Amino acid sequence: MGNSDGSVLVDRFGRHVTYLRISVTDRCDFRCVYCMAEEMTFVPRKEILTLEEIALVCRAFVELGVNKIRLTGGEPLIRGNIQSLVSNLSQLPDLKELSLTSNGSQLSQLATPLFQAGLNRINISLDTLKPEKFKEITRTGNLDKVLKGIEAAKNVGFNKLKLNSVILKGRNDDEILDLAEFAVKNGHDLTFIEEMPVGFIDEHERDKCFISSEEIRERLSSLYELSASSENSGGPARYYYAKGENIRFGFISPHSDNFCSSCNRVRVTAEGQLLLCLGNEHSIDLKSIVRRHPGDIKVLKKAIIEAMSLKPERHYFNHEEEPKIVRFMNATGG
Ligand code: SAM
Ligand code: SF4
Repeated sequence: MGNSDGSVLVDRFGRHVTYLRISVTDRCDFRCVYCMAEEMTFVPRKEILTLEEIALVCRAFVELGVNKIRLTGGEPLIRGNIQSLVSNLSQLPDLKELSLTSNGSQLSQLATPLFQAGLNRINISLDTLKPEKFKEITRTGNLDKVLKGIEAAKNVGFNKLKLNSVILKGRNDDEILDLAEFAVKNGHDLTFIEEMPVGFIDEHERDKCFISSEEIRERLSSLYELSASSENSGGPARYYYAKGENIRFGFISPHSDNFCSSCNRVRVTAEGQLLLCLGNEHSIDLKSIVRRHPGDIKVLKKAIIEAMSLKPERHYFNHEEEPKIVRFMNATGG
């Protein structure tokens, strides 16, 4: 039996889970300094869920009332034949929104097939508009390719693109206003993200690079008149309208905001671990269930329902402490 929102998935704190983020690969063509180490060991391919297994897991969640799915990674668009997964999922009758988060590197080629396969929305990461800085932050990325990818996604007709920028003090905080102007000029929403202490990174000291959403908002206020939106997506972002502009600025502040009480989401890693919270290690292994009972959606659904009792009340992130979460963000899916 479902609740008024159709969700069968309710945790111990009465929160209804209606949103799934699933990582389709832990691999990536970039090595962003806040996400990965320069040298990474990725999971052996046989340990990664197949596209059929991902589709089954997604169908199980949708039958349990999840109505939004976001595909993420690693870089989801380097997973072979991702369009076929999108096409498969977009046909789930009770799924209201199918979206994807990407670094944009493959979008020039893939925007059209993804749109045709039924993808509804795309978020694209963009931390800087300077080619050299882009190379420094992503280690292997090419800004021009990403900008062309953003353009291609816009032209093919995706509804309102959203850009994500992780801001690091002393690295790209001088570009807050430039990124905002780029978003306004092109009609994209833009969300600023505080760096989260997920995974051990030795490229920079996270506490020295920390900049709060509040400070970013203050800087934006020199150009835009911001007013808070009452919208609550159940997610961590707080949105602001910029007066006279047709876009929204979002802020994800895991250090300063406690958004846990309205959390409506869970994550599945590329290896099929169901994570009940981004900031905690609570999880169950869906892959072993799927592989022990191939194609058996009933067993899978039962395990997912039971896992809800593991969802912790909240996370504790503190930028001055060592990370408690040892997995890297590419394994978690952001
Ligand atoms: N590769 C895709 C991308 O970069 O958009 C999708 C996966 S990435 C892990 C998802 C999001 O997590 C991106 O917006 C990225 O900027 C963000 N991210 C990665 N590591 C982070 C960290 N340590 N703190 C905050 N955000 C992070
Ligand atoms: Fe790759 Fe995205 Fe992580 Fe950058 S943030 S390394 S693009 S997974």
